[in-house]
Amino acid sequence: MQLMIYSKALFSTWIYYSPDRLLFDAGEGISSYMGNKIFAIKRIFLTHGHADHIAGLWGIINSRNNAMGDREKRLEIYFPKGSNAIREYSNFIKKVNSELKYELEFFPIGVGERILVKDNGNTKRFVVTFQVRHTLSEPAFGYNIIEERRKLRKEFLCLPKEKIIALMNKMGRDHLTYTYEKKILTISGDTMALSPEVVEGTDFLLHECTFLSKKDRKGEIHASLEEVLELIEKTRVKNAVLYHISSRYESVVDKIIRKAGSQLSDVSLDYVYPGKIWVR
Ligand SMILES: [Zn+2]
Ligand SMILES: [Zn+2]
Repeated sequence: MQLMIYSKALFSTWIYYSPDRLLFDAGEGISSYMGNKIFAIKRIFLTHGHADHIAGLWGIINSRNNAMGDREKRLEIYFPKGSNAIREYSNFIKKVNSELKYELEFFPIGVGERILVKDNGNTKRFVVTFQVRHTLSEPAFGYNIIEERRKLRKEFLCLPKEKIIALMNKMGRDHLTYTYEKKILTISGDTMALSPEVVEGTDFLLHECTFLSKKDRKGEIHASLEEVLELIEKTRVKNAVLYHISSRYESVVDKIIRKAGSQLSDVSLDYVYPGKIWVR
């Protein structure tokens, strides 16, 4: 399992990315669903301060203090700088949970900030924030997970493996290789369709799709299916999962998204059914 997602627009949204033990958003119901797996979470990234994305945070913080698991494991929570709702909520949580057994830290972060989430010597991974277009009263972010990878320099490509290893030992790996960055996961958060630049080159796109028809939308704060499909085509993303779908579409969502998917060539398009867990 790499991704576990629950999402129903206006009610609750959370996304767990297991390779780096990251939770994106913490809508209500997450603790009871994950049970003791909440101890696996290392870092939580909140996209914005609306209740459907943060209401489960207090539950996680309490359950990690009392349930069966590593109760001394530190927890870091990152949120958009300037979010009054999250600042107030974090103050309340700290006040009523003043004697936690573990270290709990809240970090306000800005647009374009990179947070190192993995470094095993060979691979580094960062979560990088980007600005999205949601309500005016609340700063809102999306997140990219970016992996720093190494590639052999052109001039060494023709050498046999043994020779490369020998050179590597003699000259150091920086002499033979260079680093480049690969977007491996893009999470839109609540927003209008993302701009192509933040999505381009990603392996996997998780995009909100509150409205399956643009006509149902009032106000420019969420994305519609037409717009997300246009973005997928433009950026040539190969894997996309739509989430934050309004429950008004429960009976038609499967048909509509299957039809949309069949019209895209070479794209795997899936969706998170409102109110059901999606795992892959
Ligand atoms: Zn929402
Ligand atoms: Zn929202």
